[in-house]
Order: sequence, then C-alpha cells, then structure tokens
Amino acid sequence: MAFLPSGPLTLKGGCFCSAIRYEICIPALSERPLVPGALPTSIPPASSITYQPAPSSDAAAEATTTVPNRLPTIEYDHCHSCRRACGSLLQVWIIFELKWVTFKLVPRDEKLGSVGHINSREQQDKMVRYETQDIVKPSKELQAETYIGLYSSDGEAQRTFCTRCGTPVAYHFSGDRGPDWNLGPLIDIAMGTLGKAVDMIQIPQITDAYQIKRASTWKVYDLISMGGGMTARVG
Ligand SMILES: [Zn+2]
Repeated sequence: MAFLPSGPLTLKGGCFCSAIRYEICIPALSERPLVPGALPTSIPPASSITYQPAPSSDAAAEATTTVPNRLPTIEYDHCHSCRRACGSLLQVWIIFELKWVTFKLVPRDEKLGSVGHINSREQQDKMVRYETQDIVKPSKELQAETYIGLYSSDGEAQRTFCTRCGTPVAYHFSGDRGPDWNLGPLIDIAMGTLGKAVDMIQIPQITDAYQIKRASTWKVYDLISMGGGMTARVG
C-alpha cells in the first residue's frame, strides 16, 4: 500500500480524446478532511507496498495498524448504477472535495469530427476554464458549446462524460446527505482518467471499510451480489 505525499500536490487528467481536462489541487495532509462515516483503514507494515492477503495469524494482525480515512479516498464501486454507467464490473473512483478540482473544455468544433485525439497546441490554447459546479451540472448552452455531457438517472446523481469519445469522467451527488454531513460537495473522478501522475498512487490493499475482508477470495458473483462501495485510504 502506498500513500500520497503529505505535502500539497497536483493531479491532472481528462477524457480519452482530451476534449475534457481537469486539474486537482490536493492540500497538505493536515488540511485533508476525514471521510464522514468511514472506518479507519488497516494498513500493512511499511515494508509492504504491494497486495498482501489479509493477516492469518495473531503476529501478522499485531503488525497491522489503522489510520484515519481522509480524502482523497479510492472507492471500488460495484453498485448496480455505476456498473451499468461504466460498462464494466467495477468502477474505481477517487473522491475529492469539489473545490479542489477545476476543468478546462475544448469548444465544440465540427471540424474536429470524431476521429483522433485533440492534442494540438492550437486546440489546447482554445480550452476554456469553467467552475466545477458548472461542469457537474452543465447548462444546455454549455453542453451545446463543448463536449461535456450529463446523464442523471434520478436528478440527484450527475454523471459527467465526454460526448466526443464517450469516456465517463466524473460523478457528483447533489442531493441531501443529512444533518450530520460536515463537508462541502464532493466529486468522484474515474480513476482511469488520471494522467501519468496516477503512477504515484498504487492501488491499495482492499480493506474492510465496508466489512468486507479477504479480497483475494472474491469471485465475479461476489462483486455483483454485494452491491455496495468500498473505500481505502490513499492520503
Ligand atoms: Zn473525450
């Protein structure tokens, strides 16, 4: 298991064709809020940075400690909605405070068609920065002027995708989280859309945050039937 650096850092990413790009400014560890309601995350000894089966002896259990679960957090999401929306058995989200994230969009241009990446300097220079709140709930005008797409199955869950290349980019819940919620709005970024910086975030050992243990014993049927999320601390 690996952790993010304790100092501030920036992650970048975007959709497959680069019509949608984002930048995430993660504050120092001391400013990263606890994940509401999350259980502490078990971490293996510092020498272990790759997947290890759950401890099978008392000695191994004693060598494992726990840390508070802070944002950003990785969520292995196999709920019915996210499986259908991403077209795979498992969506992996990395969750941030909305205010940490900014987006830039390429203006819609018929000349771009639907072939090839948008990576020329000319197109990059045309990108426009938008408030993230406007990205997760884009107006009809913004959807017409750019390649930002919105799908909402119930009005409270906004899924952002690229209408040019089809990449699912983000998820945002805008409904009421209840009286105990003490954080601002969050945004889930599809982890596969992160750029090369993702190399520094090794996928951590799956933990028992949702009372699920021994991931090595999972089968496809288990992923489908459990129907809940799972989080693991990365920072
Ligand atoms: Zn795209």
